[in-house]
Amino acid sequence: MEIKRYEGKHATVTFDETTCIHAGRCVGRLPGVFNLERDPWINPDAADVDALEETIKACPSGALGISRKDR
Ligand code: SF4
Repeated sequence: MEIKRYEGKHATVTFDETTCIHAGRCVGRLPGVFNLERDPWINPDAADVDALEETIKACPSGALGISRKDR
């Protein structure tokens, strides 16, 4: 199992590919942050950190995680 980390200015996002059920909620809610056609596909700086956290909490599989730097 490999967890990838995406470092942003205000938060670090983690992603566990083996847990993701490809429900697409992340890309649907924040397409600027989660873009499968880009490499790296997650850019934590492309949205407000509160919106980022809300979207990550809405991930149905728990594949996404967030560590905020302001807390
Ligand atoms: S919301 Fe979660 S389960 Fe759905 S595609 Fe994104 S990471 Fe995968």
